[in-house]
Amino acid sequence: MEALGVTEPTLLEHVLMLTRVEKFMNWSRATSVWPVTFGLACCAIEMMAAGASRFDFDRFGSGIFRASPRQADLMIVAGTVSCKMAPILKNVWDQMPEPKWAIALGSCATCGGPFDSYHTIQGVDKIIPVDVYIPGCPPRPESLLYGFMKLQDKIMSSSLADKYRELFEPPAQSPIESVEPIDLIHEGSQ
Ligand code: SF4
Repeated sequence: MEALGVTEPTLLEHVLMLTRVEKFMNWSRATSVWPVTFGLACCAIEMMAAGASRFDFDRFGSGIFRASPRQADLMIVAGTVSCKMAPILKNVWDQMPEPKWAIALGSCATCGGPFDSYHTIQGVDKIIPVDVYIPGCPPRPESLLYGFMKLQDKIMSSSLADKYRELFEPPAQSPIESVEPIDLIHEGSQ
């Protein structure tokens, strides 16, 4: 080995693995994201297919869809968000503990899809912050898996320093927070 210019790892290097706390925390979060059980329309069938044996969402450590938002850190918005459903969606989101993430799955969740009408929210990002948008009507389960891997990349590159800055220096209220779902209902019914 040494003749080839490659040094053998020492015994200490065999038994020790060095990393940063931030990297370790991001890795543990990215590989154990638990989605809340939440489906709204046809795209939810694709989400369920992703969780079944053929696509096996479990291999990302994320196959455990939680029945309580208090035990979940990912919301996959799969389907049409109607004005009537918006306050319930926001309520479920608010009950999820930080840090939490959201995926908009399909055209309806990203921009209203084919329902450009008075009763549909034109994109769930009008109610909650969205991390990954997945287009398609409906997107295939592979698209959800790819979008999920993008979310993992985002989690891996997140910074603990930024998170603590957010906690101790809260920013001014974001435009999303200032929108009450009830306003959207009134807008929709006009
Ligand atoms: S995007 Fe298409 S498949 Fe998905 S919920 Fe909307 S209409 Fe249904």
